[in-house]
Order: sequence, then structure tokens, then C-alpha cells
Amino acid sequence: MSTIHEVIIIGSGPAGYTAAIYAARANLKPVIFEGALDSGGALMNTTEVENFPGFPEGVDGPDLMSKMRAQAERFGATLITDDVTAVDLTGDVKIVKDSDDVEYRAKSVILAMGSGYRRLGLADEDRLSGRGVSWCATCDGAFFRDKPIAVVGGGDSAMEEATFLSRFGSSVVIIHRRDEFRASKIMIERAERDPKISFAWNSEVVAINGDPTVSSVTLRDTLSGETRDVDVNGLFIAIGHDPRSELVKGQIGLDDEGYVLVDGRSTATNLPGVFACGDLVDHTYRQAITAAGSGCSAALDAERYLQAVA
Ligand code: FAD
Repeated sequence: MSTIHEVIIIGSGPAGYTAAIYAARANLKPVIFEGALDSGGALMNTTEVENFPGFPEGVDGPDLMSKMRAQAERFGATLITDDVTAVDLTGDVKIVKDSDDVEYRAKSVILAMGSGYRRLGLADEDRLSGRGVSWCATCDGAFFRDKPIAVVGGGDSAMEEATFLSRFGSSVVIIHRRDEFRASKIMIERAERDPKISFAWNSEVVAINGDPTVSSVTLRDTLSGETRDVDVNGLFIAIGHDPRSELVKGQIGLDDEGYVLVDGRSTATNLPGVFACGDLVDHTYRQAITAAGSGCSAALDAERYLQAVA
């Protein structure tokens, strides 16, 4: 019979590593699955993080994540750079399988698989990511002071990003495929009142141009098919995000959009001994520091659970 671990953590972004640091310091000897291809989480895709406390000069996303990883390792977390491919979380002993179908068992599990921003699927999107293309106005807006900016999307988050970005940019154009928004009336009105914000209706982005940074986008009119270039230095993509909850679907309570449901301000899911944190549960804040904070809460909740069932 294989070892029954105290806690297994799935995911290695700020939430997973912070949970690992706390669980390791509580002597729970956590095992953390980091993911096979994208260990370190969303911040591995960014150059400069300016809003994580403790780094007055800013910090490189990958540097920040390797520091968090080293801190978890220092206190005895076992790091496994592999994907979890299947779980059975329903019993008292939770079962987690790696990509070779090897079974790991634990009394508790912390889910920290994060979420993925929806992409436009354009050829230069990856090349220009962090070089003008962004998915987070709060994170990157300040880099575009006095520069022209575009926001793609038609929901509340696109309106919110555009209104926020108008504080920095010289102008903000909201690009939307249709001729009306699905955003709430109040958010639309706020954007319409903003003198810096304009609208490109019935338009879709078909190319992102510039080298080494974004200099323009090519828009196609969805009615006439005509194309035109718009000069911008920042392109914020606000077309939604998908929580990575596929692994636990059918076992754990999810909301309509697939986010893991937790009980009130805690990280407890509907299954005893299973906790969830970070962007996997968070519609609203979606920052490294909030993910790290909820990773801490998940480790403390798991610790209390383990004490109660001991
Ligand atoms: P993630 O960081 O997404 O990590 C999830 C992890 O889970 C990944 O490592 C993945 O490999 C792993 N995983 C998923 N499924 C499995 C599985 N089945 N098995 C094993 N592992 C799995 N926030 C800021 O505060 N400041 C910024 O400047 C900032 N800039 C950003 C720039 C970019 C380009 C992006 C994309 C995001 C940025 N953010 C920023 C947001 C921030 O990165 C996220 O809010 C934060 O990373 C969420 O942390 P998380 O731990 O919940 O999830």
C-alpha cells in the first residue's frame, strides 16, 4: 500500500506555491504537482510584475515564481513537475493520478489549477504577449501612459478595463464584433461618457502588428469585410477566461462558468478535505497577491481539517 500523504496540492502558480510553503512549514510534508508544461503558472508569461508587495523595483514574473518554488522546497515540499490526469476526491482517502497513471493518496487535496485567459488565436499574439498584448489592465495599464490603447471585448470586463485604461492612455478604442455590447448598462454608460474612449463596432482584430512591440492592429469590418489599420501600442484582450476545472468536473461543485465553489470566505469545497484557491475560484480579483493569499487560507483550512479528523 502506498503512503497516504497529509496533503496534495495541484497547481504551481502563486496559490499552489503559497499553499505549499504554509503546509510545509506546518510539517504536513505537502506533495505539489506543478504541471508538466506550464509549471509556475500565469506569471511565467510576463516580464515585469510591479504590484507584488516586497519588490519596489518590480520583479520578473519567472523570477518571482522561482523564488516561491525555492521557498516551498526549502521547507520540505515535494515538487513533482507533472500533470495530474485523474482524481477521485470523494472518499476519506483522496486519489490523484499522474500522467503515467501512478496513484498518489492523501487525506486532503488543495486545488490550485488557475484559469486561462481566452485568446484571439492570432498568429502574432504569443510573440507580442508582454510586448503590448495583455490580458490584465490592472497589471499592465501603467506601461501605456500617454499611448493609444485598444481593448477587445463587449462584456463588463472589457468596459471596466477600458475605463481603467483611460486613466493612462492617450486614447482607448473598444473593439467589438457586434453593434451592441452585452455589458451592463451602467458600465456602458460610464465608458460612453469618457472622452478618451471611442468604439469600433462590427469589427474584429485580424492581425496584431509591430516588432518588437505592438504598433497597430488590423481590423476587419464584419459587415463589409473591409480592413483597416488602427495605430495602438497596447492591445488588451478582455474576452473572458476559463477556469481549469475540467479535472474535477462531476465530483466538485462548480458554478455556471466552471469556477470551483467554496463555502463563504473559506476555501472549503463541497467535499470534506478538498480545498480550492486562486484564480480557479476567483471571478473578481485575479491577481498574484490575491491568489497567494487564498493559497495561504487553503493550507490553513487543510491543516485545521487534518487536526479535526486525526
Ligand atoms: P496560475 O498562476 O494560473 O497557476 C495554475 C497552475 O496550475 C499552473 O502552473 C498549471 O500548470 C497548474 N495546473 C493546472 N492544471 C494542472 C493539472 N491538472 N496538474 C498539475 N498542475 C496543473 N497578476 C498580478 O498580480 N500582477 C501582474 O503584473 C500580473 N501580470 C500578469 C500577466 C499575464 C500575462 C497574465 C496571464 C497574468 C498576470 N497576472 C498578474 C495575473 C496572475 O498571474 C494570476 O492572477 C495568478 O497567477 C493566479 O494564480 P493561481 O495560482 O491561481 O493560478
